[in-house]
Amino acid sequence: MKALFLEAPGDKPDIRLRDVSMPHVGENDALVQIAACGLCHHDVAVMAGLLRRGVRPDIIMGHEISGVVQRVGASVQTIDEGDRVVAALTSFCGNCDRCRVGRQYRCREGKGVGHAIHGGFAQYVALPATSLVPVPDGVDLVEACVAACPVGVGIQAITDAARVQQGETVLVAGAGGGLGAHAVQVAAAQGARVIGVTTSPDKIQAIEALGDIEVILSTEDLDFSEIAMALTGDEGADVVVNTVGSAVFASCLASLSQFGRMVVMGEVTGANANFSLTEVLFRDATVVGSTGASPGNIAKALDLMSTGAVKPVIHQRMDLSNAEDAFKHVRSRQVFGRIVLIPPSD
Ligand SMILES: [Zn+2]
Ligand SMILES: [Zn+2]
Repeated sequence: MKALFLEAPGDKPDIRLRDVSMPHVGENDALVQIAACGLCHHDVAVMAGLLRRGVRPDIIMGHEISGVVQRVGASVQTIDEGDRVVAALTSFCGNCDRCRVGRQYRCREGKGVGHAIHGGFAQYVALPATSLVPVPDGVDLVEACVAACPVGVGIQAITDAARVQQGETVLVAGAGGGLGAHAVQVAAAQGARVIGVTTSPDKIQAIEALGDIEVILSTEDLDFSEIAMALTGDEGADVVVNTVGSAVFASCLASLSQFGRMVVMGEVTGANANFSLTEVLFRDATVVGSTGASPGNIAKALDLMSTGAVKPVIHQRMDLSNAEDAFKHVRSRQVFGRIVLIPPSD
């Protein structure tokens, strides 16, 4: 089969399709013929050489996988040949203390798909059958590749970590990014009033078109909290979803209401946040991090996609062989939502 390999990371990474043997299918595994695999900012950071953590050398990257089960191992009972599936972001044991409470994404034995075990930038992948979630009829299989990351990741941050309730105000920083464009929809589906913040004038209309979303246009050095306060009658947002990280941390904090919660979903620059702890203290605020998506939240993502409550935001479908161009597009920051890579059909 054909698979993509990062030969050398950098500003112009050397990424190539190579012929490799078909993956080994263990007795608890399923072989998936890949329909699509999203190109995540995380992959782009690895390709650029900015990130290495947990990524095995010579691994097939890609964790946003959808496809069709071709074959299952002898002990597999949960899934069948011909099933349409998406993959969880990690393998997991199902038995450890974390798995038992629904935190399979932080399984003590877990291995990251596309990091520690081979991922989806290929024609086929073999994964533990337990880490596959069925795709309901009516959800396009290519679009389904965003169900775990970013949609499921957004659901986990918004419903589990930030516990957004109907009628609350949710501000999403980085609303034009892959995480943000889905997070605004998830928050709206929870019955929240949603305010999106973007620094891209070109993306305002596209964000507004995702639903009943008010958009603040910010600039790199503007403190958008004043606008957030003005829009909320000086109350602030009950929840701030920070998909950007340290660069906007202080503005996010200053946008929070009394007892407000900030959920941090990403760190784009890798810098430290500069803020006054009194801002946390006197707000009685909560700051919480959230990564990953449990199988339950991936199933919820697919549900929301099947009802149309969350529309997958796919910027473009590109051939896997054009991964270098896809990398350039994402880095140009002109992309709204995900670029998804389609492997050769044979
Ligand atoms: Zn991702
Ligand atoms: Zn486990």
